Amino acid sequence: MPTALPLGLLLLAAAAAPERYDVVLRGGRVMDPETGLDAVRDVGIRGDVIARISAEPLAGARVLDARGLVVAPGFIDLHQHQQDAAAYRLKALDGVTTALELEIGVPDVARFLQERAGRSLIHHGAAASHPAARVAVLGAPLPAGAVVPPAGPEQVARIRDTLRAELLAGGLGIGMGIAYTPGATRSEVIETFRLASEQRVPVFTHVRSSGRVEPGSSIEAVAEVIAAAAVTGASLHVVHINSSGARDALECLALVEGARARGLDVTTEAYPYGAGMTAINSAIFNPGWREKMGLDYADLELPDSGERLTRERFETLHAAPEPRLVLVHVNPDAIVDAVIRHPLVMIASDGLGPHPRNAGTYARVFARYVRAQQSLTLMDALRKMTLLPARRLETATAAARRKGRLQEGADADVVVFDAASIADRATYRSPAEPSVGVRFLLVAGTLVVDGGGVVDGVAPGRGLTCDRGTPAR
Ligand SMILES: [Zn+2]
Repeated sequence: MPTALPLGLLLLAAAAAPERYDVVLRGGRVMDPETGLDAVRDVGIRGDVIARISAEPLAGARVLDARGLVVAPGFIDLHQHQQDAAAYRLKALDGVTTALELEIGVPDVARFLQERAGRSLIHHGAAASHPAARVAVLGAPLPAGAVVPPAGPEQVARIRDTLRAELLAGGLGIGMGIAYTPGATRSEVIETFRLASEQRVPVFTHVRSSGRVEPGSSIEAVAEVIAAAAVTGASLHVVHINSSGARDALECLALVEGARARGLDVTTEAYPYGAGMTAINSAIFNPGWREKMGLDYADLELPDSGERLTRERFETLHAAPEPRLVLVHVNPDAIVDAVIRHPLVMIASDGLGPHPRNAGTYARVFARYVRAQQSLTLMDALRKMTLLPARRLETATAAARRKGRLQEGADADVVVFDAASIADRATYRSPAEPSVGVRFLLVAGTLVVDGGGVVDGVAPGRGLTCDRGTPAR
């Protein structure tokens, strides 16, 4: 028996009717490293966008109880090698909403994106691969026996053409694993940086060498790429400065700091583990590696068995044709800890199945550095995982401006976790144990972790692509 209401009252009722959002995160501790917001709020999500952040309760088709939990931008991993469904599940449980293969890149960016379109739990993307472009031009294998010969000027031109095409296909920068391509001359490196500068995309690089022995020290290797950035104007991101810098990681960080202080766009990242992992038959273990890196055979460990190598065992495995991964115990905890808490250092996992960093990197930073050591605040840890990597990507893609932020208008890539219990469970012996403590994860507004478990049958992950590449003139 509705009776006609006066128009004024009707309008009032309409204005007062609560807006309904698709998803509301109720009453969490909302943290945004860019604005510094750290307060209890409701977050209203509509479609794939954070539509509203409110001190007043919001109404939603689905309301998730975030009381007592942190609500933050989903983590952006700039360095994820394993790009498959199994890895994406582990990344999601570690709080990652975007996982990118930027260090080495992929040989065919278009195919990489196509294979994952509509099938991916989280966002993904890749760099144009300098090692792969070299292999395509010079015809040498990768990664085994990667001592590819130097390229002549015409070959370098063809490498550049290949890379340019891959950037047009969506590559988010140029990945240069210089340590894996020792045949690449300084001149080839500079020419590649020149291309990155022309195309306004960053170079992501595993520097040429590590250790303390000159020539070929970590410091020389970091200096090489900083010089290449300085003379070409390219943006530079030095990957895993913890393992590439090794015992001189802090000195290498000081180089990055000094370059930035002089106006260069140089950034870096690290993963929170003392051991690295790489292929025992790669160029990294060419003769002289022990002296160079200050390591011995026993610092190498087979991940599945825990076997520490002897000289004989090393020789056999190094000479074997099939690639085999080894843990390399390169850094004492004190160095890793100092690197991780350095304000310039982003967190990136270098994720690879047999190493616990694949599953546990992000949760470990909270468990070890925020809770146990209290050497990082929660906000500082979040900044290293969200805002800093988003900013690194902004020169390559405008889409990055909407990521890494918990703000109205930003992409609805959101992690909701318990700061008191989030922890890594992956170990060197058991590297695929998922992290615990991530309660909810939204990717483009779709729930992919619900109540601590991965949601089956959803694939909201999108390809993140470069929008700056230009064809050859
Ligand atoms: Zn690397």
